[in-house]
Amino acid sequence: MNDIATVSRRGAKRWYSGHPWIYRSDVLTAPSVPAGAVHVEDERGEFIGTALWSPTSQISLRMLSDDDQPIDDVFWRERITQAVEYRKSLNIDGNAYRVLHGEADWTPSLVVDKYDNYLVAQFLSAGLEAYREEIVGALVGVMNPAGILARNDPAVRVHESLPQATEILHGEVPEEIEVREGRVRYLAAPWHGQKTGAFLDQRENRARVGTFARGRTIDCFSYHGSFTMHLAASAAEVTAIDSSGDALARARVNAQLNGFENVQFVEANAFDYLRDQEEKGEEYDVVVVDPPAFAKRRDAVTKALRGYKEINLRAMRLLKPGGHLCSFSCSFHVSTALFREMLEEAAADAGRPMRWIEARGQALDHPEIVQIPESIYLKGAILQAM
Ligand code: SAH
Repeated sequence: MNDIATVSRRGAKRWYSGHPWIYRSDVLTAPSVPAGAVHVEDERGEFIGTALWSPTSQISLRMLSDDDQPIDDVFWRERITQAVEYRKSLNIDGNAYRVLHGEADWTPSLVVDKYDNYLVAQFLSAGLEAYREEIVGALVGVMNPAGILARNDPAVRVHESLPQATEILHGEVPEEIEVREGRVRYLAAPWHGQKTGAFLDQRENRARVGTFARGRTIDCFSYHGSFTMHLAASAAEVTAIDSSGDALARARVNAQLNGFENVQFVEANAFDYLRDQEEKGEEYDVVVVDPPAFAKRRDAVTKALRGYKEINLRAMRLLKPGGHLCSFSCSFHVSTALFREMLEEAAADAGRPMRWIEARGQALDHPEIVQIPESIYLKGAILQAM
């Protein structure tokens, strides 16, 4: 059995530049061992590091380190401890946040989110899956959670020839976990909610948007009411709009949990709803637009930009003078530059001068690594109608 991968000059160069992925097309000779850790050499036979090996994936190798240290409990405990230390340094105002953000925490393809005293993990490559026991042991050792749930249902697991399943790995994890986020509380749904139970990447943006809340507000694409709660804490009224009745039912429960009675819930297509409001001549102080990723693939970018532009243009038209638009895009393929260009065109077509208040990104517990563009996906803008 051969546990060495030989990679092309291009593959090695990518790793030297700080990016951990080596694609199948850059693997000159593949290891003959099953998925797990392997040693990696360049085309001259020089050792360049240790990687997770995924035999069936387009991303064949995910580099773990530039030495040949054993990939064992000690290794995982060190990586997890470093990530936990970084989160401690952030002084997060709440108890639900991301502990491991995959590649961006040097734990490629491993995502772990913390909800109060529970962890929800995603093992997103075959090489990583081989270390499930060691990783669970290390998470328990470092964080001592009451339970760990594997939300191993993402479609990427199919490319890795891994089964999709949601299962308990340690202790117990309830259907709903009550967590605090700044001055509001909400119920995360680890077993069946989106992602690992909530959109934690927007945590800081929600708190920030809350500081602008006043008067009449709308939360478009509200999901379980995450921005809604932060708006409701200060605004006179909030309209939460989502096309999912289930998501709105949970938003209603979250409003009750906080004692908010100033929220109305509308099950509708946000595009249609905003158009209707405009026709009725309604005006708002704050409009939040946080749609799902319109561009899931590169070839969908043009169409996605039309969607983003339309929803933002409609939102801009509904603003009172001085009103704020808080707009987001989580499409990796829509770059920051394209996002800004889209807002510029939307403002021009809306016929409203908009003041740029601030650019927003993903919460700091979802680190953005400069050399790993794939780690950077969430963009946001707070704009003010003049
Ligand atoms: N703002 C939320 C996350 C939004 S996720 C948060 O911070 O937690 C996107 C949401 O958009 C999902 O709940 C989905 O049901 C909803 N959605 C998708 N298409 C929609 C449409 N056309 N109109 C309204 N809601 C839509």
